[in-house]
Amino acid sequence: MKFRNFKMVDYVVYGRGCFDQLDEILAPRRKNGQPMVFLLDHYFANDHALRTRIPLRDNDVLIDADVTTEPKTSYVDELAQRLKDTYGTVSGIIGIGGGSTIDLAKAVSIMMTNPGKAQDYQGWDLVKNPAVYKVGVPTLSGTGAEVSRTCVLTGPTKKLGMNSDFTPFDQIVLDPELIKGAPKNQRFYTGMDCYIHCIESLQGTYINAFSRAYGEKALELCQDVFLTTDWTDESDEKLMMASYAGGMSIAYSQVGVAHAVSYGLSYLLGTKHGIGNCIVFNHLEEFYPEGVREFHEMVRLNNIDIPVGVTKGLTDEQFDTMINVSLGMAPLWENALGKDWQQQMTRERLRALYEKL
Ligand code: NAD
Ligand code: ZN
Repeated sequence: MKFRNFKMVDYVVYGRGCFDQLDEILAPRRKNGQPMVFLLDHYFANDHALRTRIPLRDNDVLIDADVTTEPKTSYVDELAQRLKDTYGTVSGIIGIGGGSTIDLAKAVSIMMTNPGKAQDYQGWDLVKNPAVYKVGVPTLSGTGAEVSRTCVLTGPTKKLGMNSDFTPFDQIVLDPELIKGAPKNQRFYTGMDCYIHCIESLQGTYINAFSRAYGEKALELCQDVFLTTDWTDESDEKLMMASYAGGMSIAYSQVGVAHAVSYGLSYLLGTKHGIGNCIVFNHLEEFYPEGVREFHEMVRLNNIDIPVGVTKGLTDEQFDTMINVSLGMAPLWENALGKDWQQQMTRERLRALYEKL
């Protein structure tokens, strides 16, 4: 048995208002007149208050990250090339935004120091050189992307992350005030990513005490915030820590059925990660009876719309595409159903599941 040896985030600052320490944190990382590059979620474009608080100095660069769709390898290449052409290299990349912007920041910082294209590094341990200094500042909580060793990208042939020891951030800034303004549906979809991660990893076959410790805490925090109708500052604080703990829990565990099925949806239909997981989890009583019952309760209490009928009218060929993508996620299925998952999850059974969505 060989155990994973984890590279983690180097520095973490947590607390309401800690975003204002960013200038001080970045100061010793500034090198030879090379700029810091702030990649800001386009939600904060124009004259949003957060934008005006970004500690721009000298020749620093502020780029509005277009996250209309989840990040593509082509967009990563374009951003990295633009920075290389203009500055040669940079002091660092600071991603401020939801999981998509966070992943984009990781990927661009890797492509500043690695040859070729981003698509060449989709997979496990393919990145050759350490990235430039990178910082993640989440403005939505739930994905765990702030602590993970991957950044999920859609490339020409696959949707897969750059999983490597060079992927985790050097620094993360966890300021619960930044997630405060998120609309309730978005907050719920992203928050449920964490809840679903927890259910899938805690009930999975890969779980160990390390992952259980973080997963149980993350689950408890999600229950605290979503099994109630009033949202307070404390809810933001708890949700931000749920995401962190949920991300830590994935270190030694794995997600399961909801993620495996939702990857197929997102590949074919472009369904976003958070809402896609909700659309699928809504129908997974047979796999996660207790979790799905509680999920329905959270949906009801928070008055959230979960789309239904999204696969209606798809062709056999389209169903096959989703089934192929989904069955390609072997570790997820093995975690969920055990070593004999292929006998249990036949193409027919999976097709029936997709038809329900
Ligand atoms: P997101 O980053 O895709 O953002 C969703 C929407 O919310 C966007 O329109 C964005 O502009 C907006 N937004 C961001 N902050 C906001 C705020 N404070 N208020 C209002 N709107 C705001 O959403 P997400 O759910 O955080 O992230 C999903 C992404 O994370 C996917 O691309 C997924 O692949 C990725 N992901 C990565 C990992 C990982 O380990 N790297 C894990 C899970 C998911
Ligand atoms: Zn997820």
